[in-house]
Amino acid sequence: MTSFKKYCITGKFKLSSIDPAATPFLKGDEEAQRQELETLAVRLDDLQNKLHAEGRRKLLLVLQGLDTSGKDGTIRWVFSRTSPLGVRVKAFKVPSEDERAHDFLWRCHAVVPSAGELAIWNRSHYEDVLVPVVEGLIDKAGARRRYAQINDFERLLTETGTVVIKCMLHISKEEQRKRLQARIDEPDKRWKFQMDDLAVRKKWADYEEAYEKALSATSTDYAPWHVVPADSKSHRNLMVAHLIVKTLENMKLTLPAASPAVSHLVVQ
Ligand code: AMP
Ligand code: MG
Repeated sequence: MTSFKKYCITGKFKLSSIDPAATPFLKGDEEAQRQELETLAVRLDDLQNKLHAEGRRKLLLVLQGLDTSGKDGTIRWVFSRTSPLGVRVKAFKVPSEDERAHDFLWRCHAVVPSAGELAIWNRSHYEDVLVPVVEGLIDKAGARRRYAQINDFERLLTETGTVVIKCMLHISKEEQRKRLQARIDEPDKRWKFQMDDLAVRKKWADYEEAYEKALSATSTDYAPWHVVPADSKSHRNLMVAHLIVKTLENMKLTLPAASPAVSHLVVQ
């Protein structure tokens, strides 16, 4: 299998060092790719079941990326065969009044996965070092404090049994243009389009810079960031699926041993 190393951030990094159109995890024709994703999705369902049965550790998948980068699509396809029983998805929106009245990690901590659970965050605490930075609501020192608070929060999670996978879905500005245009042109996609998407798109360079700073400051050995080339939807799905399956396999999950008192029981 292709190595994740090149896509795992260590230290200071520039988004321009990773081509959003790259497809290192794509092999074969479309049918082969579809089949590979299906196989991974079934494997993921089995691993999730073991995670639940073990009932001890937790997995948190953080998905970040600009509008149309494919966060929803990744969840739909990669988890297409995972039972809803063991998966909890949280989409983070603009903070409510109640959320704004607390520290920025409050709403996140409330939805971390519990023992045996797999949680997926569609956007996350990282929005709080992107939007406010681009909008000038916090200064550089404020952003640095938040990076450190995020690192402390994620260390707390990993030290208490949570494995954290963080993926930034990386698309080009031209690919976003096409996808936003499709949301405008195709009636069944129009509901996804928000006027605000265009205002955010105008700040593309500012968001890229905010991403570079945030990811450089928060890619730790216990919770590293992966940048996923995402102009190709098939590539994006396969790379994220491989990463999650590999992570769960490395956890060496085992089903709880049956008690000797049970193994010879015959149900009448
Ligand atoms: P969507 O994911 O397209 O439904 O949009 C959710 C919107 O909420 C995006 O524009 C996010 O940037 C915004 N959002 C989420 N979390 C925050 C946050 N902590 N601060 C500001 N905006 C946020
Ligand atoms: Mg949106």
